[in-house]
Amino acid sequence: MIQGLFGGTFNPLHRGHLTVILHVKKAFNLDTIHLIPSAIPPHKSTTNLAPARERFEMVRQSVSTIKGLVASDVEIVRKGPSFTIDTVNHFINTLVPGDDLRLIVGSDAFFEMDTWKKGRELFSLISTIVMIRPGEKKQAKDVASFLQDVISKNYRPVNGEDLFSDPISDSGVKPVYVCKVPEIDISSTLIRQRVKRHLPVAPLVPQPVEEIISQKGLYL
Ligand code: ATP
Repeated sequence: MIQGLFGGTFNPLHRGHLTVILHVKKAFNLDTIHLIPSAIPPHKSTTNLAPARERFEMVRQSVSTIKGLVASDVEIVRKGPSFTIDTVNHFINTLVPGDDLRLIVGSDAFFEMDTWKKGRELFSLISTIVMIRPGEKKQAKDVASFLQDVISKNYRPVNGEDLFSDPISDSGVKPVYVCKVPEIDISSTLIRQRVKRHLPVAPLVPQPVEEIISQKGLYL
């Protein structure tokens, strides 16, 4: 089984998240993707951050009917800031022979990974899929430079521009894939702004998200 790990603030989950993640799932033939809301995001402002349990519940209910997507509360159950290295180690410990993991990150997050706790070490623990949107400034060639300049000089393009690995030496870095995802112009910021202005969010978020926002009075 190949499992993907997709962390985020999910404040709240929206259709942009689901569309890109299902695109990656299909493109890489992943069996399962775990959506992992962070409890205390170390790299993001926590202004207007809904309680972790509500963000988790919005994810859980939204993916409960989508085959191959599951919500994970591992970062919420754990105390303290949500470091990806701890989450990756958690999932590595659950693997059985034949299983493999992919860390899925948006390009905004990817280019900051060297600043994460044990960020460089992550590249020797887990293979990464970087999602790049069509209009983004940084593209596959920037992924290559970042990997070579910041993570390990042994990273080399393997398959045109979409796969970077260290096929020759034994430096231990895992492959990094680039996945071009469709442009979906939705962000959690946009959803929070619309709620605040009492504008509908229905087509932009799954129904359980709309219901929980309204029941709990989130983002007002
Ligand atoms: P905010 O607007 O609060 O900054 P966000 O919508 O970017 O939030 P996050 O939960 O922080 O949501 O996102 C997790 C990951 O999902 C990020 O790496 C981000 O790049 C990616 N992502 C979010 N929205 C989209 C989208 N519309 N298309 C592609 N990727 C997205």
